[in-house]
Amino acid sequence: MKEFRESLYGALAQTFRVDELYFERKTAHQHLMIFHNALLGRVMTLDGIVQTTEKDEFIYHEMMAHVPLFAHSDARNVLIIGGGDGGMLRETLKHSEIESVTMVEIDADIIKMAKQYLPKHSAGAFDDPRVNIEIADGMNFVRDTKQRFDVIISDSTDPVGPGEVLFTNDFYEQCKRILNPDGVMATQNGVPFFQIDEVTTTRERMAPHFYDQSFYSAAVPTYYGGIMTFAWGSDNAELRQLGLDTLQQRYQRAGIKTRYYTPEIHQASFALPKYILDALT
Ligand code: SAM
Repeated sequence: MKEFRESLYGALAQTFRVDELYFERKTAHQHLMIFHNALLGRVMTLDGIVQTTEKDEFIYHEMMAHVPLFAHSDARNVLIIGGGDGGMLRETLKHSEIESVTMVEIDADIIKMAKQYLPKHSAGAFDDPRVNIEIADGMNFVRDTKQRFDVIISDSTDPVGPGEVLFTNDFYEQCKRILNPDGVMATQNGVPFFQIDEVTTTRERMAPHFYDQSFYSAAVPTYYGGIMTFAWGSDNAELRQLGLDTLQQRYQRAGIKTRYYTPEIHQASFALPKYILDALT
């Protein structure tokens, strides 16, 4: 029986039994693999790193979409960088106030193969009339665009390969440039227990561009190592400190069905363990 082995840290690896291989090929940008695993359902990997699984994707996509969007509460134009599997699009579009979502994905093959082999991720989101898909490097897009956005979600791969540019000072600076007043940016920021440098590096590079820069977290089982962090940036510090009653009112009013996100989890997710706070001071 074939196995997929992910080894991010040399001394440690995780293996997934490949019960059925759907697709494996080098695209123009990265090595893409989609397979079925009896426990996790369908799994997508890029360049040997687990990107998403049917079993636990809801945790990641709900937390990266609903925390910034409920914090903002009136986002009309949203930008997603990456997100090729369509899960972020699915969750984002649940917010009825949104008028347009621009998704900038570098690799058209990811979208094509996700539509075919991971249909539950997008669940029709790619066909929503509010969606505009751009096939481009997210760095080039944020540098060149004349559009402005209320929420920016960077749903990228890790800072290696094509994703590396999405963790740079230049990227955060350009994202701030195209963010509307009271806008919010959230980014995928790794598993701090093993990748604490991703937290300190993001703080160094992102904090100069936002009045309020911090992190929130959730544990996504297949991103092993405990909690993962999401970086947060906004010039409106209140958006990260909203009261539970406000969040509960917004959640009730929106009537969005979730399986992980709750207003209580939202508020608690910004509480960071001491080892992360110590690393940030
Ligand atoms: N949930 C995953 C994670 O946390 O690692 C990320 C999901 S999604 C599959 C990551 C997407 O980022 C991929 O589709 C990849 O093609 C895209 N990507 C990587 N570098 C990019 C870039 N520079 N511009 C736009 N998209 C990029």
